[in-house]
Amino acid sequence: MTEKQRMLSGMRPTGRLHLGHQRVIAKWAELSDLYECYFFTADWHAITTQFDDTGSLRENKRQVVIDYISAGLDPTKVHIFHQSDVKEHAELHLLFSMITPLSWLERVPTYKGQLAAFKEKGKDIATYGFLGYPLLMASDILMYRPVGVPVGTDQMPHVEFCRELVRRFHHLYECEIFPEPAPIFSNIEILPGLDNRKMSKSYDNFINLSATSAEVKEKVWQMVTDPSRIRKTDPGHPDICAVYAYQGFFNKEEQAEICQNCRAGSIGCGECKKRLTEKINAFLDPMREKRAQLEADPALLDDIIATGNAAARRVACETMELVRDAIRI
Ligand code: SF4
Repeated sequence: MTEKQRMLSGMRPTGRLHLGHQRVIAKWAELSDLYECYFFTADWHAITTQFDDTGSLRENKRQVVIDYISAGLDPTKVHIFHQSDVKEHAELHLLFSMITPLSWLERVPTYKGQLAAFKEKGKDIATYGFLGYPLLMASDILMYRPVGVPVGTDQMPHVEFCRELVRRFHHLYECEIFPEPAPIFSNIEILPGLDNRKMSKSYDNFINLSATSAEVKEKVWQMVTDPSRIRKTDPGHPDICAVYAYQGFFNKEEQAEICQNCRAGSIGCGECKKRLTEKINAFLDPMREKRAQLEADPALLDDIIATGNAAARRVACETMELVRDAIRI
């Protein structure tokens, strides 16, 4: 593992992970054959927006690790850790904050958008911590001196931010510590929400990886179909139907037949949803099995996290030695 170049990514433990996340985790699992991978739960990031609702944070972190593993990460191949267990992230964030112009943070495209989205919901997140979240993200990444970070195109400004920060740090302290991380594009086809909108926690339009088969059935039953279909014999328009989009992800082998029968008015939406429910449940079954094993053995989960934390700390300590020497602090 040590000969491979390093790569890092993480998710915020703001709740259970869903089918959309599974696609990202599956991609991470593929990358773990190529890189030495560090995957973390971004718990400090979670409190930049959920500072007033931390009651479930510890449980959420554990659940995210269970989701990571049950969705395909192999803890014998990758390092899984909690961000707040590696305090060096906070130190690097602090030191970087001394050299980061305020304007760099204010111009990050998601900053103003998220402030406005939360304001609409009646919550003010215009805090010092939230303004600094791209810098904390850059610290998380650079700590592992990775060659790349897996990103979607919408996250490119964060990678660019990292690269600019690296250049500024090296210029100020006349050193070469961090490689400028390159984006590793995942090319993941995005799973839409159950209502055909963007999958989002605020729309409650997703299926959790930990959903029971009854919960999957209920969620699929609520999915948006072609509203012009009243009777089974009405010709349908699969292209505007969320159930049909999901068939493309979970029931590829029957998708063409469903399309034809939907257009011909010879399959009912009930039957179509029943088939999808079965497929999603079959897809989730192995994950449920893995989840049950991990939940039945808390010591094993603790051990996985402790091992991941220790591996992350080893790299973080090395990086901080270099950084402190460069700053002469
Ligand atoms: S039959 Fe299936 S694809 Fe056609 S509208 Fe109903 S749910 Fe959608």
